[in-house]
Amino acid sequence: MSIRPILTAPDPRLKAVSAPVESVDAETRRLVDDMLESMYAADGIGLAAVQIGVPKRVIVMDLDQKDGKRNPRVYINPKILWASDELATFEEGCLSVPEIWEEVERPARIKAQHLDRDGKRITLDADGLLATCLQHEMDHLEGVLFIDHLSRLKRSIALRKLQKAKRLKETG
Ligand SMILES: [Zn+2]
Repeated sequence: MSIRPILTAPDPRLKAVSAPVESVDAETRRLVDDMLESMYAADGIGLAAVQIGVPKRVIVMDLDQKDGKRNPRVYINPKILWASDELATFEEGCLSVPEIWEEVERPARIKAQHLDRDGKRITLDADGLLATCLQHEMDHLEGVLFIDHLSRLKRSIALRKLQKAKRLKETG
């Protein structure tokens, strides 16, 4: 397992549309393990493969990290089958958009389907944080960042903040 560097906006590689995984094999599981390692090392709760420069439809998540406990979740080739008309607003952040948190409105509940790390097909109903995270991560597979959901003005303010944070990090 290895920790891989996470790309940050406005890196053009984050705009790539990810390709489906053809078979869930040892190479896929190696990618999953690297993604989990990289996500935990960065203190994140979700990561899409494209964020470490691998444009494949693979997502990892852990919404239950507490006192060193881990509950890794793996979503391969995820699809949304249904989304509620009802919307929910969460303050979102992203390992590829560090230091920025903004409220984003998305469907409150979804029904989704994916393959797990053994290639087994799973259908699930999600609401709350899980529904939001899944939609946020699935956006990455289409090359979309959460700041793309903001108004043009809010997005440009966020990107300016991001550039400033990056410069501070480089000089300090
Ligand atoms: Zn993200």
